[in-house]
Amino acid sequence: PKQRNTFKPEIAFEAGGEDALVGNVNKLTVTPPGYPGAQRKGHLVFDACFESGNLGRVDYISEFEFDLFIRPDTCNPRFRVWFNFTVENVRETQRVIFNVVNFSKTKSLYRDGMSPVVKSTSRPKWLDLLTITNPERGKKLVFLTSRVHPGESPASFVCQGVIDFLVSQHPVAQVLRDHVIFKIVPMLNPDGVYLGNYRCSLMGFDLNRYWQDPSPWAHPTLHAVKQLIVQMNQDPRVNLEFYIDVHAHSTMLNGFMYGNVFEEEERVRRQAVFPRLLCHNAPDFSLSSTSFNRDTVKAGTGRRFLGGLLDDSSYCYTLEVSFYSYMTAGSTAAVPYTEETYMKLGRNVARTFLDYYKLNTLIKDNRPAHIQRLCLQLNKCLINTTLE
Ligand SMILES: [Zn+2]
Repeated sequence: PKQRNTFKPEIAFEAGGEDALVGNVNKLTVTPPGYPGAQRKGHLVFDACFESGNLGRVDYISEFEFDLFIRPDTCNPRFRVWFNFTVENVRETQRVIFNVVNFSKTKSLYRDGMSPVVKSTSRPKWLDLLTITNPERGKKLVFLTSRVHPGESPASFVCQGVIDFLVSQHPVAQVLRDHVIFKIVPMLNPDGVYLGNYRCSLMGFDLNRYWQDPSPWAHPTLHAVKQLIVQMNQDPRVNLEFYIDVHAHSTMLNGFMYGNVFEEEERVRRQAVFPRLLCHNAPDFSLSSTSFNRDTVKAGTGRRFLGGLLDDSSYCYTLEVSFYSYMTAGSTAAVPYTEETYMKLGRNVARTFLDYYKLNTLIKDNRPAHIQRLCLQLNKCLINTTLE
């Protein structure tokens, strides 16, 4: 039978009696009552002895259930709402219930579904490279990277939109997975993001200037991604066709792209097709802000470096999205972006690959013949006009 402690926290705290909790638990190992042996895996260790920590006491109910007591505000035990603590020494697959038993509010958003934030630091791996495809067929490969500049958080929402769409049951996503392999590095600069940097990595490097010669110790994420892309490019079974690096822009409006300049005019025209198709799908994407350049200052960027490395039939772009807002064709005022509209741009980027591969007949076009003819005319039109 369970042995519950008869401690009455309400009374003790209100009275400020001698049971009132004053300190936080400090690496407290909670074992079954009367347990004589040494600590073993699964005996939870609670700690709140750190800045902003709060946990006053822990009672063992069973291996799977614990009563937790919030440490009241200092010199004012009426307030018991904030808690913040760590738990270690869990056994794999151990599931536990924590009852916070002395919460002082009778009404709170917990009633409406709010839940505490739980962060695990021991999950096996964080997703540094995602592969999205239907594994049964050999196919074209699209490589996407994002957040090389840590302060450009809109890039993460755009990237999230791409991922959400590609893994969805949307018919366009299903067709894309059948014909294309998407490899996505959602966060190229995790250290910089963790530290709250704006532009640089932990060691102060703007990683988007080191693609030519990244060092494994100074630019490890970049080095690994570059190595993977170089390997894939040498593998005759891999057909790497697109590289897109997602950024956010602090002075421009809308979504837009940067592309490369090539000697062969035909390649230049082919490169303009994807942005044009995207413009058709995404009302916030601006073709007039899209530009193609070979600035020396951008030589170390992913777009420039891979544009030189990959073969003629591949396309490398930087996709930028405004930190703030977009103007659509008929609008008179700029519309501020939201998390949702950033993600929508990502979804539109993903579905533009279907239009691209239909034009290039990789994916069979099942639309009525007259629509197909129209699209073919549009295709010719796209390839035969250069950008303004
Ligand atoms: Zn950037």
